[in-house]
Amino acid sequence: MSAPKVTPMVRQYLSIKAEHPDSILFFRMGDFYEMFFEDAEKASKALDITLTSRNKNDPDPVPMCGVPHHSANGYVARLVEQGFKVAICDQVQDPSEAKGLVERKVVQVVTPGMQLDGRYLDASQNNFVCAAVTGRGGVGLAFLDISTGAFLVTQVTTPESAFQEILRMGPKELVLPEKFEENARAAAAMRVADQLPTSRLESKDFENARTRDRLLEHFKTRSLEGFGIQDLPLATRAAGALLHYVQQAQRQEITHVTKIQAYFQDQFLWIDDNSARNLELLKNIRNGTRQGALISVLDKTVTAMGARLMSYLLRYPLIDPQVINLRLDAVEQAKDLARVRDEVREALKEVHDLERLRSRTALGHANGRDLAAMGESLKQLPRLWALLKENFESPLLCGDATDDGLTDVADLIDRSIREDAPPGVRDGGMIKPGFNEELDEVAALATDVKGLIAGLEAQEKERTGISTLKVRYNKVFGYYIEISKNQTKSIPPHYVRKQTLVNAERYITDELKEFETKVLGAEERRVALEYNIFTQIVDRINGEKNRLEKASHLIAWVDVLTALGHVADHNGYCRPVVDMGQTLDLQESRHPVVEKMLPGQRFVPNNITMNNLDQQILMITGPNMAGKSTVLRQAALCVIMAQMGSFVPAEKAVVGVVDKIFTRVGALDNLSQGESTFMVEMQETANILNNVSHRSLVILDEIGRGTSTFDGLSIAWAVAEYLHDYKDHGVKTMFATHYHELTDLTKTHPRVKNFNIAVNEWNDEIIFLHSLVEGGTNKSYGIQVARLAGIPASVIRRSKQVLQTIEDSEEARVAYSAKASGKGGKKDVQVQMSLFPTPGELAAQALERMDINSMTPLEAMNVLSELQQRV
Ligand code: ADP
Repeated sequence: MSAPKVTPMVRQYLSIKAEHPDSILFFRMGDFYEMFFEDAEKASKALDITLTSRNKNDPDPVPMCGVPHHSANGYVARLVEQGFKVAICDQVQDPSEAKGLVERKVVQVVTPGMQLDGRYLDASQNNFVCAAVTGRGGVGLAFLDISTGAFLVTQVTTPESAFQEILRMGPKELVLPEKFEENARAAAAMRVADQLPTSRLESKDFENARTRDRLLEHFKTRSLEGFGIQDLPLATRAAGALLHYVQQAQRQEITHVTKIQAYFQDQFLWIDDNSARNLELLKNIRNGTRQGALISVLDKTVTAMGARLMSYLLRYPLIDPQVINLRLDAVEQAKDLARVRDEVREALKEVHDLERLRSRTALGHANGRDLAAMGESLKQLPRLWALLKENFESPLLCGDATDDGLTDVADLIDRSIREDAPPGVRDGGMIKPGFNEELDEVAALATDVKGLIAGLEAQEKERTGISTLKVRYNKVFGYYIEISKNQTKSIPPHYVRKQTLVNAERYITDELKEFETKVLGAEERRVALEYNIFTQIVDRINGEKNRLEKASHLIAWVDVLTALGHVADHNGYCRPVVDMGQTLDLQESRHPVVEKMLPGQRFVPNNITMNNLDQQILMITGPNMAGKSTVLRQAALCVIMAQMGSFVPAEKAVVGVVDKIFTRVGALDNLSQGESTFMVEMQETANILNNVSHRSLVILDEIGRGTSTFDGLSIAWAVAEYLHDYKDHGVKTMFATHYHELTDLTKTHPRVKNFNIAVNEWNDEIIFLHSLVEGGTNKSYGIQVARLAGIPASVIRRSKQVLQTIEDSEEARVAYSAKASGKGGKKDVQVQMSLFPTPGELAAQALERMDINSMTPLEAMNVLSELQQRV
């Protein structure tokens, strides 16, 4: 194999590529971005484009593929979406001025966390890059969204909580120090690194002094006190490193990132990732879309900024009643003033994503259309601000941002930028006539070409007397005079022939050349001048970035709060009383999502009351399909909504602030990770028991189902006791269970109370009433539910017979009650074995050990037919 021929260009390519080993290098060559070698192989596959080679006839051709430069953004976005990084290498020198090779440079690295093109970004979500660093005292985390300028940092004590925090913030990319894995515990806890595209920085980039200096230099401050991070060394290190990483990739200062916001986990209601998923806050659990998730009910915002803030608030509900009530005040005003609210929302609909437009402008990525969109948005401000000031008292709905209508910026854009500007900024057509005198003059020259040509043509026709003479233009010859063959005899001598066609001859003259220079120059000058003026406007707008930020911030809040007012009004929600008490009282409450999904059918409201005196642990029984899971989730969702500042689906609600919500619901299969359902269930339960506090709310749906009945019951029993006795005062817990035996806990545990979800029996059928009533039940109605599920009638009949056998057996009941007292085990099984000597009875016994309620209809059917075969 001979070495590839190293031309100067290949050498240039290789040296640039060496600096970006982990990126796909887009190497600009004329009108294309080309990729070579391994990059070409990867990209051609990922983009489904043809892989060719550069020196086809060489024994060792170089693999290559390319994309046209004007559509490069789309290709870059597709690669980035698939987790690649892309380094864009442009020609930074005019090819006509280059002596040898054109100078090339990487001008930007696009990564999953640094996508800037609005078309490829989810408007309703932040696009964070996260940096993490471990050290004494825990883990420092920083999150930067370059598309909006948001920069958040925090410090947590354990790798586990860092992992949870990363999941909650949901970054698209992770930046870690090279030696991160040396801290084995952190590496193990932060499994997230396996799932997210991860970049590495040298450890020194995370060092104390270096990161601090970088931050001070960027924010042009003397200390970090203003940001409240002076005592958070790990957060500072993560922030400094992240800023460096982002600046490196952008190849420029990121001036629109104007502040760092420090936050602490204990300022917010803690909902771990599992619980957030179980409760379907942002995504539904089945297909991962917003449909059917709480966000789909609450997010009636009309701007991208509002939508992003709404998602954030839902994942970060508060725990300080004062601040929560401030939000509730605003929502209440918005709810009550329906007409003003609608007017505000109408105005907001005209507002584009100012936050991202501001960032694009600051980073030099904005085009004429972006500025036009910004201008259109800003035009709404005076009307919007006036509405807010005149009608609302809440400081969250007005504040001093309403003193600045940004009319100067709106006016600048209005006077200068054409609404129909093209997507490119170097093609002209962006600046309005009348904005700049010089441009108008050059433009007149450029646009009057037609008239000038017509004049020239007429003049030549007259001079030569040739009636078919035409003045035309093409790219190869520039301007030329065309004369049909039969008239060429009378051409003047100063015509120089350039080209012969079948029917015509083409000529040029000195005069025409002069004309050409003037006209072509004018077009070029016009485009250059437009670009110049455009960048000046961009610079001026950038100078106002803080004012723009302030306005965007208020718009996001106004949008969210009026949306919550709108939702509260339309869905009949009530304002919750949020205080530091220990009571959770939801009267006539509904499940915010399920109630929307019952077309034509009324959702049955329920009262859910919990306190720390006599009703702390609600033991809820009832058959499958009665509504146990619904009522459990409903309680958790109402708490989350209340603490994020929303009204709640109830007639009356009191929410003593909850610090953490834990859920253990359903059987979320983690089989793909090689863990059994039962193991996952127990891990989740362990997490709950190890992290609860007196202020927590625990939701347990069917714990202990994944193992034998006796094991499961014993575990559930012990867990309930633990939560009841937790540090003497207990934890608010809702417990849905099939183990009717658990209702006996009330006899010995004063704060446990039994509830069941009522059903009516009618002609051997059951009717679900969905209402939560006091008291336990001892019927499962498993067979009736199996029938509803479509199990064949013969199997249902047979299962009834078997059930009857079991129920008739006096001894079986003895065994049953021994088990219920929590002493169940081997002995009971032996007692039962001796009771059922016949095959039929053995089958019945097998049936008894089975937890019908935990089976899928299919499983039930298989088991029943197996039993049928035995008898
Ligand atoms: P369980 O957990 O007891 O098996 P679910 O909570 O899953 O039952 O509820 C089953 C179905 O019953 C729900 O999908 C919903 O359609 C309906 N449902 C539940 N609660 C109510 C209610 N309060 N009012 C009306 N329908 C309800």
